[in-house]
Amino acid sequence: MKPRQRGRILMRAAELLLSRADEFGRIETLDNGKPIFEAAKIDMPAAAECLSYFGEYADKLYGDTFPGREDAFLMTLREPIGVVGAITPWNFPLLQALWKIAPALALGNAVVLKPASVTPLTALMFGELLAEAGLPPGAFNVIPGPGAVVGQAMASHPGIDKISFTGETETGKAILRAAAGTVKRVSMELGGKSPNIVFADADLDAAAKGAINAIFYGKGELCSAGSRLLVEASVHDALMEKIVDRARKLAPGDPLDPKTRLGSLVSEKQRENVARYVAAGRKEGAKLVAGGNAVSVGGKGAFFEATVFDAVTPEMTIAREEIFGPVLATLTFQNEDEAVAVGNSTIYGLAAAVWSRDIKRALRTARALKAGTVWINAYNLYDPGLPFGGYKESGFGRERGHHALEEYTQVKSIWVDLA
Ligand code: NDP
Repeated sequence: MKPRQRGRILMRAAELLLSRADEFGRIETLDNGKPIFEAAKIDMPAAAECLSYFGEYADKLYGDTFPGREDAFLMTLREPIGVVGAITPWNFPLLQALWKIAPALALGNAVVLKPASVTPLTALMFGELLAEAGLPPGAFNVIPGPGAVVGQAMASHPGIDKISFTGETETGKAILRAAAGTVKRVSMELGGKSPNIVFADADLDAAAKGAINAIFYGKGELCSAGSRLLVEASVHDALMEKIVDRARKLAPGDPLDPKTRLGSLVSEKQRENVARYVAAGRKEGAKLVAGGNAVSVGGKGAFFEATVFDAVTPEMTIAREEIFGPVLATLTFQNEDEAVAVGNSTIYGLAAAVWSRDIKRALRTARALKAGTVWINAYNLYDPGLPFGGYKESGFGRERGHHALEEYTQVKSIWVDLA
């Protein structure tokens, strides 16, 4: 198929997805528990934008020519890798998958997608949608099933040329081991424990709103969640008052109600994990200042209150481990050096944020933080053109932007003898 035709199919798929955003969003909400507002009004439009962004790239992937030799003509071609295996998590089921599928298909690869076992529905629906958009049979395949079986088989299969994985760091390590047997290309988007740093000169109202969005958007089941709030000591009390006030007002509600902003956790099992972390926080001496309890909403789901801990220290479990739920750990710092040192004191390096009116300080801090994305005076904002990925044990490789093109193509050098 001609690249331009592939591009048109992806653009058509984007239009179809946008026109069915409410239907896809509703299924995503039923599967995952996230508010319908997020699923239909944010995730699906973002997924469609990702499709059109990479659709536009389909016929714009150039090779190079190299001057310098009179006896030869030297050039490179950028070619698809072949069959891409995408293994994805349950927190943004379709959006995460599209960050992989859109560039992979745009650049001429075939895709085998294994969605998370608890949220396979929108992936299956999307397979039908791609067929409707004109993608030929076999170019996109969905295989639901347990990760330990289907995911492992994909990682070790000689017919799959690359694995693009998003999920937990420990799962990523298991995939790396399985992929070693066939020296497969691999890219990994893994966990996070992102620091959200508020300096005393920040706009505290904006920082409080940002901190709430950073940890409670998506119920905190976000790889990039701002789960560690680092506050400069002199504004600690003023900022915490605003944050606690907002957190207490953020009551969990029916995910299908368009007004709900805090939905149900993905499963009872995930709620038990979150409750275990809250118990650990209490036991290790952190101060619970908001939430902390599982709650019932209409007798279904797995709801948990927006939870805020204060007086957390870096060695506590809730400051070190990824909770993947609506639980904020607040730590206090005295100066910029300490903020950076505490911010970087984690095995992860996915994201971070800095709140300050001093642009020099904000940029200095952004540069010193070991994270793949740093927001300044913002949190959780994304664009298909800006690459996303991890430092340290948050993974390697980048999704989105032109960096994603590297992940789904390989380079062939051609030497033409002119002598
Ligand atoms: P998991 O790692 O448990 O699962 C992710 C995917 O891998 C699922 O499809 C899962 O299948 C599959 N899988 C599980 N075990 C294996 C295996 N041994 N071999 C191959 N595949 C396997 O992550 P979660 O679904 O629990 O997602 C949450 C995690 O994802 C968090 O750690 C979060 O930080 C991370 N994440 C990272 C993002 C990023 O961009 N960096 C974005 C979103 C999430 P099954 O469902 O059947 O278990």
